[in-house]
Amino acid sequence: MSQRPMPKVDSVNRLFWEGCNAKRLVLQHCHACRKTVYYPRVCCPYCHGDTLDWEPVSGNGRIVSDTLVYRHRHEGFMAEAPVLFAAVRLDEGPVIFSRITQTVSAGSSLAGRPVRVVFSEPILGQRLPYFSLMEE
Ligand SMILES: [Zn+2]
Repeated sequence: MSQRPMPKVDSVNRLFWEGCNAKRLVLQHCHACRKTVYYPRVCCPYCHGDTLDWEPVSGNGRIVSDTLVYRHRHEGFMAEAPVLFAAVRLDEGPVIFSRITQTVSAGSSLAGRPVRVVFSEPILGQRLPYFSLMEE
């Protein structure tokens, strides 16, 4: 079995991944327009400002869309299937694609349900941001 692929940590995204390891969701905020930016970048996608500050966010959001993944494209994930995968819009605005920790029956949509970030146990030395369903 091939090894699970992991994030490539570099100078642009290092503070995001270090935040995850500290169980904090830390995202970039544009100094000029104050929008929250995800994924990590070298300049703001909204105003092209080149000063991005790192600040913690709430980790709260709502599911935009979700699906159950039974077959992964990478063999390293096959033992974990099926996985509930979702687009989550954070309260601060950005959308993060990640896992939902609970399981649901096939065919039931979770769109609109509130979620909160949780962090995986370290996988190859790195925690990953997942989301957990909250009671409404
Ligand atoms: Zn901006």
